[in-house]
Amino acid sequence: MNNKIKFVDLQTQYQSIKFELQEVMMPLLENASFIKGKPVADFENAFSKFCESKSCVGVGNGTDALSLALRAMNIGSGDEVITVGHTFIATAEAITSVGATPVFIDIRNDTMLMNPDLIESAISPNTKAIMPVHLYGNPCEMDHICDIAHEHNIRVIEDAAQAHGARWKGRRIGSWGDAACFSFYPGKNLGAYGDGGAVVSKDDEFIQKVRMLADHGRKEKYIHEFPGYNSRLDTLQAAILNVKLKYLEAWNECRCNHANEYIKQLSDTDLILPQIHREAQPVWHLFVIRCQNRELLRIHLRETGVETGVHYPVPVHRQPAYHEYSSISLPVTEKAANEVLSLPMYPELGNEIVHEVCNLIKKYNGM
Ligand SMILES: *Cc1c(COP(=O)(O)O)cnc(C)c1O
Repeated sequence: MNNKIKFVDLQTQYQSIKFELQEVMMPLLENASFIKGKPVADFENAFSKFCESKSCVGVGNGTDALSLALRAMNIGSGDEVITVGHTFIATAEAITSVGATPVFIDIRNDTMLMNPDLIESAISPNTKAIMPVHLYGNPCEMDHICDIAHEHNIRVIEDAAQAHGARWKGRRIGSWGDAACFSFYPGKNLGAYGDGGAVVSKDDEFIQKVRMLADHGRKEKYIHEFPGYNSRLDTLQAAILNVKLKYLEAWNECRCNHANEYIKQLSDTDLILPQIHREAQPVWHLFVIRCQNRELLRIHLRETGVETGVHYPVPVHRQPAYHEYSSISLPVTEKAANEVLSLPMYPELGNEIVHEVCNLIKKYNGM
């Protein structure tokens, strides 16, 4: 094997849209239109429609999208937010950055997503919100989670950073909770060429609050209603996202085809393949298998030229940054963290590459 198989490949996609990108970016550079403007408004409109929601505001990145949503709901010091430890650290960082306390619950063993059966026993008088994470592009059980939140009069803020376009019970992620927060980090299903994020909601007033918070609490150019932040989606990134959004469904479909092919070809191994709920339509941000001897398989693949990833090897409650949680135990999360292995996944991945990766895995597996 001389050709290395990459885990993600952003260059091939760029080549397929580069002339279109040049056409939208050149006028912005010529006019020095870098902040706000039509591309941002156009993207916000198009993305809220894509999410089957009503209102959207572009912000600086996905982490800020989460913390600005919390802030706009007046969630802060003394408040608790229920979330999972099997996620990227940004989920917890957003909660602690506003002064609130994350309350970690375990995941389901099959889907590796928030286990809604554990929510009620985690609710206290201080609980203000639930933050489910649609990890790997696989949607959480949103009707169940929203019902519990409704019953207890608490809010739902979705971490949708990996799930642009996913559906639960036929409805898009972004249309379920009180707010859904997206990241446009370059490697995400919808990725900018730098940082970017968005908050989506059915509540216009709430989105307006996030918009002001993200722009120095600004009401007019020199009038600031409250102290805010500087976290806007910049104009060039919005112009890029406008071009890419048109292709998102087709790209997600390609990911889906690769996932189905992986599942078909790996079904006769003893690996645990992704378990998808029958009501879920995932968008396969990552294709994550589980195996007991993850490190050995990972080394075997590396040595045969296949890049893999681990999302995530250390759960949030086991991170040095959150050492105050080191005594809590989330057995399903901890087991998953030891077993997960992410295989190459991106829309432009060729069938022959999927085939080759599967063959190399089977060889290792002694199949
Ligand atoms: C990427 C990601 C974020 C953070 O988004 P950034 O744009 O990188 O700030 C938050 N949560 C999850 C689950 C993510 O994957």
